[in-house]
Order: sequence, then C-alpha cells, then structure tokens
Amino acid sequence: MDCGKLICSEKSNIKEVMTYIDRNSKGIVFVVDADSRLVGVATDGDIRRALLNGIGLGDSIKTCMNEHFTYTSNPVDAQRIFQQCDGKFKIIPLLDEDMHVIDYVECSNRQHIALAQPQLNGNEYNYLMDAFLSTWISSTGKYITQFENNFAEYCGVQYGVATSNGTTALHLALAALGIGEGDEVIVPDITFAATINAVIYTGARPVIVDIDEDSWDIDPYEIEKAITPKTKAIIPVHIYGQPCDMRRICDIAEKNDLYVIEDCAEAHGAEWKHKRVGSFGIISCFSFFGNKVITTGEGGMCLTDSKELDDKMRILRDHGMSKERKYYHEVIGFNYRMTNMQAAIGVAQLEHLDKILEWRYEIEEKYRHIFENISQIQMQRNDLPDRKKIPWLVSVLVDEKVRDTVIEKLKYHNIDARPFFTPLSEMPIYRQYARKCVKSRKISKRGINLPTMFEVDEVKIEKIASVMKKVW
Ligand SMILES: *Cc1c(COP(=O)(O)O)cnc(C)c1O
Repeated sequence: MDCGKLICSEKSNIKEVMTYIDRNSKGIVFVVDADSRLVGVATDGDIRRALLNGIGLGDSIKTCMNEHFTYTSNPVDAQRIFQQCDGKFKIIPLLDEDMHVIDYVECSNRQHIALAQPQLNGNEYNYLMDAFLSTWISSTGKYITQFENNFAEYCGVQYGVATSNGTTALHLALAALGIGEGDEVIVPDITFAATINAVIYTGARPVIVDIDEDSWDIDPYEIEKAITPKTKAIIPVHIYGQPCDMRRICDIAEKNDLYVIEDCAEAHGAEWKHKRVGSFGIISCFSFFGNKVITTGEGGMCLTDSKELDDKMRILRDHGMSKERKYYHEVIGFNYRMTNMQAAIGVAQLEHLDKILEWRYEIEEKYRHIFENISQIQMQRNDLPDRKKIPWLVSVLVDEKVRDTVIEKLKYHNIDARPFFTPLSEMPIYRQYARKCVKSRKISKRGINLPTMFEVDEVKIEKIASVMKKVW
C-alpha cells in the first residue's frame, strides 16, 4: 500500500493540497487530523468549486473538504459501492475502526484497457540487443535476411523484401510493377488510407469499389464492373483478418490480364483454402506496425515468387542504385529500407507468431461466447466457406444509432474501442475516385473494434459486455 501520497494534514492550506494532488495524480486527497484519523476527503473538483466561490489558496483545506465521505473497511464492499454509484466515486478509502486509513480501492473503471499491445516476451530483447551491440544498427545485417527469408517461408512464398513500413511496401510493389500515370488500380472502400495513398503516389488513378456484406472485403462482382481498358491491378485487402475470396479475384485478374497485389497488413497467418494469404498476389504487402499481429515497431514487407520482381524491388528500395556499380542509378528509387534492429525484433516475433495467433483466437472465442446472448451485438463472421480468418482486432456490428454512444460509454469506463474505418468514398479527398458504394457505408457506421490484447480475459469482456448492454 502506498497511501502516503494521498494523505495530508488538516492543517494544510489549499495551495499545499493542490501540490499533493498534482504529485499523486489521483485527483484526490485524504485529510487527517493530528491523530491520523480521516476527517475529510477533497477532490480536485471540490477545490476548483471552492476557488470559484472566492475561497483563497491560503485558506485551510477544511473550508472545502467533504466531511461526509464514503468509506469502508472491506475492499469487496468498495467494489459494490462503485457498481451501485456508477461513476460517482473514483477512490474509496479503507479505514480501520479508529478511522485510520489502511488502504484505498480504486474503481476498476480507472484501469485502462488498451485496444492493442504488442507481445514482446520472446527473444525480442535478446536479438535487438545483439543487433545493437554488433553495431549493425542500420539497414545491413544478418537479421534483415533472416526476417525476409523466414517470413516469406511462413507465407509459402519464395522472396521477401523488408521495408520501412506497410505503406512503403505497397508503394514499392506498385512501382516495381511499373504502375503509374494513365493506369487504374481497384481498391476496396473499406480499408486503411495507406492502400489508396500508395496508388495515388504512383500517379495512377485509384478506383474505389464497394464491399461484400458478409466478409466486409472487396466484392468481386464490383471489381468486374469497375474494370476498364486502363485497369492494371487490383488490391484486395484482407480486412480485419478476413481473407478475401481469392479464387474469384484471381480468376477475374487472369481473365482481364491484371495484377493482384494483396494488402495483408491485417491478416498475418490467415488462410484461403488452406493456403496462407500473401501467397496469391504477384506481390503481397504486409505491415509490422505496433498494433498489427506481429510488429517491428514500424516495418513492412513485400513477398513475391518472381526473382525478377524481387530484384527490382531491392533496387528501388535502395535509391534505385545499380547492384553492379556503386552510386550509379538507372531508375529513380526510394529509401524504403528496414533496419537490422527492426528485423531483429521481427525474427523474434516470428518465432512465436503461432502462439500469438493462438491467444488471439482464444480472446475472440471468449468474446464470442459472452456476446452470444446479446442479440444486439453481431460478431465478425468466422464461418465463411474456404476462409480461415485470424483475429486482428475483435470486430463487431451494432445498430448504427447507438454505435457512437457505445464507444463513448466504453471510453468513459477507460476501455479503448474504435469505430471501423471511414469508407474512403465518404472523405472529400478520395470521393472523386469512388464508384457507387452502399454496403460499405452501412457496415462502417455499425462497426466497432474492441480491445484485443493479451490481458483481455473473461472478467474484462464481461465488463465490456455490461457497459454495452447498458446502452440498450
Ligand atoms: C496498417 C495498414 C497499412 C499500412 O501499414 P503501415 O505500416 O502503418 O504503413 C496498409 N494497409 C492496411 C489495410 C493497414 O491496416
């Protein structure tokens, strides 16, 4: 117990108490008399109101403390009080018979539940330190090759080209395929902005199409309708870990002589007909940002089975510099390299990717089980034919009328939840590229991503469920 920071003498003046509150960052002090007995409680709100009413900084804390405070001797009772007085108390003192403060209980609402958190409990630290101590901290080193090879192998693809992030991976892929001005590239309406931005960087025109209502992925039927003589590529995005219908997309691409570039940023390890995503496109792009399934801090990778594209991407990634002649540039390239330190973390993350996916499945199953009886919540489908989705962020749909209220209430209880991506077609900077999108708007308005981190257990999910239920 560390109550010290919360306790001040009744002799203190308001200015002194404000300093205490500032230091303990709990927004509250317990005021005790000369015998250390609790005589009052003052919150930063009490003090603010007192000051507004003309009480001065030099006046005694006794002028504004609450003498009729709530207390108990039993931590379980404290939890009951928190529940009954939803939000009224943040901290309840625990007192002995003589009114001495022995401890305090913080409302568990105060405990922050984050949306995502990386799992760095494998060899991440060891390999990172190894890279660091080797002094190969820039973009040459053994971990880069190892990470590229191991990740490509995991996805069942021949070559991997590590990049500085997922966005540069997408841009690198498009550039290596020679996509540019005068070309069109088909993208889904629901995705993270990086997918479309990468297309715009090349000078090509993105064409935004609607999604499928069951998978929330790009709708193959809409792809077919959007194809013109200028179309060069399709970028299917396996959104929220749900694999796209790769057979139909690859069929359409083959029939129309188009490239498929998979955006796998949210779907490491997901499968279509027992084949991992990333193995279908001519090039596939991954992100290793901090909230993705595995992370390198920032980072990305392009996968391909083509030796020629692998070579091209390596040259473009490294300023377009000729492999044979140093400082001789044949194309305008970029600096999209990953560092050896990032790759070191990546190698370690890959070692326990299967474990990480396992606990993600477990968390999603717990959510599924607890939400089963709540008819107002619809979980993301995991029963679509041919697909093995992975849980990236647990994703649910609710009625659009209450969606924002649900997120607000969760925030109020310190639970991090997010609305789905805004459809690209709804944002003024992208609207000009959009075909008619109806389903994406319907789904997006109803969608919520819920905390999907290691510490989310049944108790926390029950709590999330109870906060959500109160909205109905
Ligand atoms: C995260 C993400 C990206 C971009 O990855 P960064 O590493 O953040 O640049 C691209 N596409 C999708 C679908 C993503 O979720």
